[in-house]
Amino acid sequence: MSVLSLVRQDLREFSGYKSARTETLRGEVWLNANESAWPNPADGEGGCRRYPDPQPPQLQAALASLYGVAVDSLLIGRGSDEAIDLLVRTTCVPGRDAVLVTPPVFGMYAVSARLQGAPLLEVPLLDAIDGLVVDVAAITKAIAGQPVKLVFLCSPLNPGGASLSLDMVAAIAQAAEGRALVVVDEAYAEFSDMPSALTLLKQFDHLVVLRTLSKAHALAAARIGVAIAAPELTAVLRRCQAPYPVPTPCAQLAVSGLDDDALQATRARIDLVVAERTRLQPALAALPGVRRVYDSQANFLLVRFEDAQAAFDALLSAGVVVRDQRAAPGLGDALRITIGTPEQNDRVLSALGAGRKT
Ligand SMILES: *Cc1c(COP(=O)(O)O)cnc(C)c1O
Repeated sequence: MSVLSLVRQDLREFSGYKSARTETLRGEVWLNANESAWPNPADGEGGCRRYPDPQPPQLQAALASLYGVAVDSLLIGRGSDEAIDLLVRTTCVPGRDAVLVTPPVFGMYAVSARLQGAPLLEVPLLDAIDGLVVDVAAITKAIAGQPVKLVFLCSPLNPGGASLSLDMVAAIAQAAEGRALVVVDEAYAEFSDMPSALTLLKQFDHLVVLRTLSKAHALAAARIGVAIAAPELTAVLRRCQAPYPVPTPCAQLAVSGLDDDALQATRARIDLVVAERTRLQPALAALPGVRRVYDSQANFLLVRFEDAQAAFDALLSAGVVVRDQRAAPGLGDALRITIGTPEQNDRVLSALGAGRKT
């Protein structure tokens, strides 16, 4: 069965907007898109005078090489957030096809489902000795019993921190075969020592992997993220995407941000984050008032406190802003702390009372 059977029937043949850059016309004088014939003085080389290529080829090549995939299996979007939204819109018929999520988890999956009018099916994570983990049996059961079209997995989990094993992803993909797309959001994969679900793409054409330049690559404001999937599926997503989704200055910045020197610097930053995470976890766990610090494969730590409000306030009065997780299901006593520079992390520790003990 083709993966296209999981796309909304009314969109399978949809050709989308025919933009001026997608026509296969040739010429020297381009007067087809109502662009200005002269550049804006602020635009040095005039690179922004014309509408951009919908999927800038240089960026495609850089991202394909970064992730080790073919160009036609990539969809470049405005952050992985856009890919999440496109996946929901292209697969779910409003009021009918459900989106399965595993709370507590990244909130955009539910937001996109809500905007599309797609029912949300929640299969909570299990709070186990080894951390917050996906309940594979419950997910399998939910997929079998309900009209689920899209399963969002997050690995490493935000905010839980644990990575999913490839066995778990494969088991869920098997259960979803012919029924639902399985999306593995790997926004933090660079910080994890678990292999990427990209290695499972050959096996499952209904698997989608999301990656982003926003976290380890330090380019959050450039808004570059990708969905990696079967070429038939990325072709559908492209036709449903806005006409010119990747601004030229962002594409140029991303291409430079992925050159050899930049990648070397990125690897060094990742090593430092992992080293700091390793240092910070036991240091936080040893503090009075800390109930639990979850193991993390990402660039943050999820921490339970006896008095989360007091911890939040202590950090704030030291000028440190962390993410309050108390509204998330099961995390009524938790804060999520991003790994910062060694100095910033020391400030966290001293604000929370390490200073008082020594
Ligand atoms: C930060 C984050 C994203 C957002 O990535 P963008 O590419 O910046 O849109 C996606 N998924 C998870 C789990 C995240 O934490």
